[in-house]
Amino acid sequence: MSDTLKQFKDYLHTMRQYDHVLTLLYWDLSTAAPEKGVEARMRAINYFSTEAFRLSTADEYGKMLHELSQPAQFDSLDPAMQLTVKRNLRDYERFKRIPEDFYTAYTEAKTRSERIWEKAKRNSDFSEFSPYLEKVISMTKEYVHYMEPDQDPYEVLLDLYEEGMDSATIDRVFEELKEGLLPLLGKIEAAGRPNLSALEGHYDIAAQKEVQSMLLDYIGFDADAGTTAESEHPFTTDLCIGDVRVTNHYNEDDPISAMFSAIHEGGHAIFGQNIDPAYEDTAVEQVNMMGLHESQSRFFENILGRRRSFWEPIYDKLSSLLPQFKQIPLDTFCRAINDVHPSMIRTEADEVTYCLHIILRYEMEKAIFRDNVPVDDLPALWNDKMEELLGIRPQNDAEGILQDMHWSDGSFGYFPSYLLGSMYDGMFLEALEKELGDVDEILSDGRIRDITAWLNENIHRNGSFYNSSEVLQRVCGQKLTARPLLDYFNKKYAKLYGFDR
Ligand code: ZN
Repeated sequence: MSDTLKQFKDYLHTMRQYDHVLTLLYWDLSTAAPEKGVEARMRAINYFSTEAFRLSTADEYGKMLHELSQPAQFDSLDPAMQLTVKRNLRDYERFKRIPEDFYTAYTEAKTRSERIWEKAKRNSDFSEFSPYLEKVISMTKEYVHYMEPDQDPYEVLLDLYEEGMDSATIDRVFEELKEGLLPLLGKIEAAGRPNLSALEGHYDIAAQKEVQSMLLDYIGFDADAGTTAESEHPFTTDLCIGDVRVTNHYNEDDPISAMFSAIHEGGHAIFGQNIDPAYEDTAVEQVNMMGLHESQSRFFENILGRRRSFWEPIYDKLSSLLPQFKQIPLDTFCRAINDVHPSMIRTEADEVTYCLHIILRYEMEKAIFRDNVPVDDLPALWNDKMEELLGIRPQNDAEGILQDMHWSDGSFGYFPSYLLGSMYDGMFLEALEKELGDVDEILSDGRIRDITAWLNENIHRNGSFYNSSEVLQRVCGQKLTARPLLDYFNKKYAKLYGFDR
């Protein structure tokens, strides 16, 4: 091993320790910190963030990266280390171009805007939020311009959340999907909504937590390599391969929401827990491709979790934990978890209309970044698009443009990853059935772990070694297409709602 390589590995190890501490501090802030401890926790986060930023932009670090990328050294590195050098050098150069005072001002503007957004959402008053959003938009444009001065800002943002993705590809597949979805939705609506009053009731929170443990264990979450906690919004935290944590949020009137959050976050966690330990301390261990990550959580949540066959082997267990379920036939429960209808709020939407919620946000982001639509025109544009895509119009901004936090903290370009994830899922489902056979048969048999093992082997093990389009090529032998997801929807809902395909 060359001296530079040894030095570089030590440096990576040091950076990793800062990451570890920061991740733990964020976890604590969202799950455990008492109100009076929040300020101190924020100060600790700021301190370690600044130190981490300095480490990742230090000249000595840049020197190592440059040396290791020279062919003589680079060619002797193993593939994971080559990828680490390449990716870290790109990030180093991007960050080096950002003036430190701008970086600080941008971080502050986002924190402030996020706080104002919460208030504006509560008051359903966009005008309160509008000047802050305007600032975050213009600073985000500036931020990505520093990073990649010669590229279109929105393309840079898309690539930040899903490496290798571009708007031409997204335009193509979203259009394909939209054309297939609108007629399907028409048929589903014509079939009418199911009667779900049997599910109304009061569900004990402690029992819901036991259901979560049961579900996590069922799908293959390793309780020795992770833990659970409560938070306002469910999320997953990867500390390291041996410690991947999930949170959940419980509602006494609605046990279904926490069940599906448990499955969703469990899917994210299973990804993190099953990365090959040989990749520890390399860039491969960090999966910053949100589309690929969402494809794994959503595969468990939607492709598997919303099937009757998923619940067949565990419905008795579920009824013993939540006694109300003894009175709810499995078929009624299946109608409840597949109740497709247009609604205002993305996070409460069913798996079909959810797609249109994302298409709307993607079109809005293009309007913001490409057409420079004035911020004050955005609420009306949102409402028009809701009407066009879902046939309903928000009555106020809280159920319209103010509902998601993403834009308040500058996360433009993130939304498409949810839907890309679902489209990957349609493709993974096809590939999986080709190899393992009919998914319903496997699930009814109680062999869900065979499916988890297939995902471990084909996707999780590799971490971020391959980007999403490479994964699709390797696992499915083709490039991204919306067709398999549409096939899955059409087949499933024709059967469930009893109409011809
Ligand atoms: Zn997710």
